[in-house]
Amino acid sequence: MGHATKYIFVTGGVSSSLGKGIISASLAKLLQARGMRVTIQKLDPYINIDPGTLNPYEHGECYVTGDGAETDLDLGHYERFLNVSTSQANNITTGRIYQSVINKERRGEYLGRTVQIIPHITDEIKRSVRILGESGEYDFVITEIGGTVGDIESLPYVEAVRQMRWENPKDTLAIHLTLVPFLKAAGELKTKPTQHSVKQLLELGVQPDILVCRTEYELNNGIRSKVARFCNVDQNAVIESIDADTIYDVPLLMRKERLDEVVLDKLNVLDVEPPDLDRWADFLKRLKNPKSTTTIGLVGKYVELKDSYKSISEALIHAGAECENKVDVRWIHSESITPATVNEKLAGLDGILVAPGFGSRGIDGKIESIRVAREQGIPFLGICLGMQCAVIEYARNVMGLSTAHSTEIKDYTDDPVIDLMEEQKSIANMGGTMRLGNYPCSLAKGSTASAAYGTQDIIERHRHRYEFNDTYRERFELAGLRATGINPESGLVEVIEAVEHPWFVGAQFHPEYKSTVLNPHPLFVAFVEATKVHAAARSGASTGATSASQN
Ligand code: GLN
Repeated sequence: MGHATKYIFVTGGVSSSLGKGIISASLAKLLQARGMRVTIQKLDPYINIDPGTLNPYEHGECYVTGDGAETDLDLGHYERFLNVSTSQANNITTGRIYQSVINKERRGEYLGRTVQIIPHITDEIKRSVRILGESGEYDFVITEIGGTVGDIESLPYVEAVRQMRWENPKDTLAIHLTLVPFLKAAGELKTKPTQHSVKQLLELGVQPDILVCRTEYELNNGIRSKVARFCNVDQNAVIESIDADTIYDVPLLMRKERLDEVVLDKLNVLDVEPPDLDRWADFLKRLKNPKSTTTIGLVGKYVELKDSYKSISEALIHAGAECENKVDVRWIHSESITPATVNEKLAGLDGILVAPGFGSRGIDGKIESIRVAREQGIPFLGICLGMQCAVIEYARNVMGLSTAHSTEIKDYTDDPVIDLMEEQKSIANMGGTMRLGNYPCSLAKGSTASAAYGTQDIIERHRHRYEFNDTYRERFELAGLRATGINPESGLVEVIEAVEHPWFVGAQFHPEYKSTVLNPHPLFVAFVEATKVHAAARSGASTGATSASQN
């Protein structure tokens, strides 16, 4: 691009859950489509060092990067939109900021001075932002500030933005996302909450350059000019963000609102190519014009909060578009599945996906669903804990090891078919101590997995402590559960497949983290294809039955 890295800050006001992550990712997509090198970063104001220790009910899924960072689920959106990997540097929390300031204090790096929020904490925040810019890899660093302006805990972040704007006004830009609610009784869109939110930002010394307004209805010129006048922004910098059918529509909606043009103009970035969004538009076309529909049951214990399985549900959307097949996800609570309910709960499914997880809650329901998938030839994908449950199910119901279990769930069992890794046994700390991030895996020739990937050498992301217990491997293989993916360095089993089944794959890793719009994950694509075959066979069988009964 030939100029200094530009820093774009995205804050949110009025309400949480307005979709800052999607707006940031969409803007990044538009800039990337113009040939720019872009990365996105999330600053989270909570005190946890990372979301790895958080219950998914708190903030949804924990997203794992290739370098093994446990991060906010927004990083998943960034990767899915941009098709570019993120890393630890892309997600910073208050806990991490304080941890590094306190470590420096202990090392004596502050030379006896009083350590304070300003300048020490704000300097550390600014350092975390600039690290990405100074890598020389990016033309734009988009930094999303978590939380809502006005929260006590986000104050140091807004202060850091103020300082960076002051130090370098030409290369920084502030975008504020707000809500313009529609009041039914008045029959009107209301701009007052936006005005208040901008006032609050102004009190903190930040004048937004661009306002992105979430709304259920179109913003007319009257509303736009009112917002512009009261909030000191240009009218063309009042951007409508209307509710969309899918998050993947948002880049095109932002393009229509010329968000990218306004950003480039304000940052004085000239001579830029027009965006090339052909492949993106092609994905949307396939997504919106499916030729078939299949139903996949997602069995997990956090299904009340769908964000807990964000990467999985998005990977199913990408794979569905690739297969020109709409995937209807039936969310099934693993605790609701018992031998008495299982047939009714899983009736009519074309595929069963058993989700990752920790702890004993809902385990029996997961194992029971896998039994049905295996016995009835329903395509099955087990991820991490889902794979481990498949191993337990096979041991118990096919190999007759009736007390087989994982030592995560039961300390002492005659047959610990899933057991703690040796190097995990001495670890006491919970945070950041699992087997995390990228590991290589070699797939067996002729396996379902290698057919799906079209190669035998893969790298996938991990997040677990427990493992397939290798001492049982031969017995499993003799009984028809084959270890088809092995870590070439450690020999750990990463993939298992039931030989006598049309499509039964368990993966110790998490394929969902690597699925993107432009690179749907091969394992998910093959799984969705298998559900299509299953659905076709089912409807064939039922037509067959109808004609038979007519005879
Ligand atoms: N609880 C299991 C383990 O730690 C599985 C983890 C997961 O599903 N991500 O090995």
